[in-house]
Amino acid sequence: MNFINKFQEALRIPTVWPSRALFDDSEAQAPLLRFQEFLTENFPVFHNTAERHVLNPFSVIYHLPGTQDSDAVLLIAHYDVVPAEKEKWSVDPFGAELKDGYIYSRGSLDMKNVLISILEAAENLLAEGWKPKKDIWIALGGDEERSGSLGAKEAARWFERRGQRFEWILDEGTPIAEGQIKGIDLPLALVSIEEKGYLSLNLTVDQEPGHASRPPENQAAAILARALCRIAERPFPFMLSTTVEMFFARAASYMGGIQGFVMCHARALGPLFFKLAATTPTMASMLRNTVAMTQLSGSAADNVMPSQVRAVINLRLLWPWTVEKAIAFIKKAAADERVKVSVYGLGTDPVPASSDFMNHGWRELESAMNETWPGIPLFPFIMVATTDSRHYKDLTGCIFRFNPYKLKPEELNTIHGHDERISVENLHRGLSFYTSLLRLL
Ligand SMILES: [Zn+2]
Repeated sequence: MNFINKFQEALRIPTVWPSRALFDDSEAQAPLLRFQEFLTENFPVFHNTAERHVLNPFSVIYHLPGTQDSDAVLLIAHYDVVPAEKEKWSVDPFGAELKDGYIYSRGSLDMKNVLISILEAAENLLAEGWKPKKDIWIALGGDEERSGSLGAKEAARWFERRGQRFEWILDEGTPIAEGQIKGIDLPLALVSIEEKGYLSLNLTVDQEPGHASRPPENQAAAILARALCRIAERPFPFMLSTTVEMFFARAASYMGGIQGFVMCHARALGPLFFKLAATTPTMASMLRNTVAMTQLSGSAADNVMPSQVRAVINLRLLWPWTVEKAIAFIKKAAADERVKVSVYGLGTDPVPASSDFMNHGWRELESAMNETWPGIPLFPFIMVATTDSRHYKDLTGCIFRFNPYKLKPEELNTIHGHDERISVENLHRGLSFYTSLLRLL
């Protein structure tokens, strides 16, 4: 099978979790195990050379020992995908159809493209007799879209027990952005060196349940609604992280004019800068902790008083904010003892950038980019979403989150959306990127 066919076959395995599946549901886990098997069958040279450790359906780890006694590097990818609303797609979301130069499928950009390309690159290089100098580890996760608590988190623990550390780590992340930064038409390779933290909070108000014909004077829904309004009116303060400042300074040199001036003098302009810069949700998300109000619920019937009303808010935190400090901030903003605040799911602190990232991995990424996409500059950036790499933060000083694919905003929007697709050109360039990168290791 050639590379494109292998990729299509990988996409056709529907490694998606049914929305209500439990983590110990063997039916739900079957496609994940099938995917693990698919890899062993389709990358024989790689599997003959690499050590393989299967921790569970959500985690496979590979090790290619290096010839020199030097630092180790870890590449991360995940093989689970989010569900697809079939009726909203123009093609079968798991058909991997090739149409007008694009392969359409759930997972084509997030992120079987990366996973298959890394293994294909290693397979081809090993067949040519390549021997890596550095120790290369590859960790594949099967529940990234569900917080990575069974895959990446377990894998990180496994490495921790072995005392394994990494000079640097590369995971999925920000792409080569085309037409996404206002004022810059050139494509920019956005390499995220920092990641925002993730926190969902339950806000609940209890009351006596009863008949809706005799409502109490102070209703739980009104108490909760007023607290939500106060939270909305009291946003987190703006701040400028070193990464974002570095990004703006570099971007300024490509902009010129008043916009370039503003970007270049971010810190000096102070509050005025934030007023000028935070004009879109994307820009604002780089400059402050965000609060998204995502869920609201009350009673199950229109004529029943709820015994509890509940809202869920989802926060993304900039370093040095922590989960603990953000909870205190929200409690203060809600300003009502009757509103109970508790953590929903897995909250994670932000992962700051390493001050030394230029000396660990950045140059290798830059060389691989030069060979693959000549002339596209690399920009340090901030990941406002989360990746599996956060589970590995104690095992390294340097994490890069980057996808070597040139994406227009409309292509980017298909990730977790409808008609997710990758151009065949992007796919080939990605393979060449990972081939160049591995050859440097
Ligand atoms: Zn992903």
